[in-house]
Amino acid sequence: MLGIRSRGRGLALALGTGLASCLGPPPSVPPGPPASAPPPSATPDDTGDGEPGAPYFSGAAALARVEVLMGWPRGLGDPRRERSIDALAQMLEMAGAEAVERQPLRADDPATGQSYDLVNLIAHLRPDAPRRFVLATHFDTRPWADEEEDPAAHELPVPGANDGTSGVAVLLVLLPTLAEALPPEVGVTVILFDGEELGRPGYGGYCMGSRHFAAQAAEQRPAWLERAELGIVLDMVGDRDLHLPKEPLSIGNAPALVDRLWAVARRRGHAQFEDRRRPVGILDDHELLTEAGVPSVLLIDKEYAPWHTRGDVLAELSAESLAAVGDTVLHALLELASEPPLGAATGRPHGEPRRTCGMLPRWAG
Ligand SMILES: [Zn+2]
Repeated sequence: MLGIRSRGRGLALALGTGLASCLGPPPSVPPGPPASAPPPSATPDDTGDGEPGAPYFSGAAALARVEVLMGWPRGLGDPRRERSIDALAQMLEMAGAEAVERQPLRADDPATGQSYDLVNLIAHLRPDAPRRFVLATHFDTRPWADEEEDPAAHELPVPGANDGTSGVAVLLVLLPTLAEALPPEVGVTVILFDGEELGRPGYGGYCMGSRHFAAQAAEQRPAWLERAELGIVLDMVGDRDLHLPKEPLSIGNAPALVDRLWAVARRRGHAQFEDRRRPVGILDDHELLTEAGVPSVLLIDKEYAPWHTRGDVLAELSAESLAAVGDTVLHALLELASEPPLGAATGRPHGEPRRTCGMLPRWAG
């Protein structure tokens, strides 16, 4: 995938010029246009498929998105986050979503009892399509750098370039490409969960947005959710030293989807997807999405050294890592869209009750 790297630089420069004015305070209007398509100067082998115009994911574009998003504060309790969320919703529309739902909720810090107003963003591409894939990530960043060695830093916010931003960036770059490349009978729902970080070691919590989503789904059973075949959740996918073993709970939820993702990655040369099972499962938004009836897989590198520290900054990420994830998800979904639904091969049937989250091994946070 060397071609991605060389082409990406040009795209990053082009994006950087257009987006520089949007850094700093969150803008009322998001920058655009969304970057997904290759620039006109792209050479055929940049796609990795040797075909001009073949669906392509730009890691450089995703990294540029991370940089822009880092100027939009999304930490719990940050007074500026409301504007950032508005901008995120606009960005989803610009990326091709025809409808962006807001799902408000209120949740408490389990350690202090402090309440937060949260909101999940649920964006639909082709809302009425008979088939549907779900892509999700959390957009909130952790307000407490409680993995810092220095206790004095524990109440300072985590910048969250990887944890809370990398997944958003990948999905924003992916969506317009999927809109172009997927057949018309397949729609996509992108969910940006809030409150994934609203938890404390020893207290639990975490994943408050997706918990609320699952509870609402059980009550309301929205029509689009009934058509959702599979879910892919991204969390911390930009580490420049990216390692993606198979996450055990994902294997339980959607074994065929895990197999497909890792097979596509291997075929496309993304060694970041490692053919081994992670020893310990990770509780993350994919468990709640599965509980909501969408058998879901988590892509995560939990061994990210700056996890929950002040060091989770842009310099820790790379376009290559983001490209490995975006390219794999893109091509796996294109394959799956051309086949009958995975159906019974994936996880439990829709709506089947799920074990209690608190009983699962550990939270990613
Ligand atoms: Zn986290």
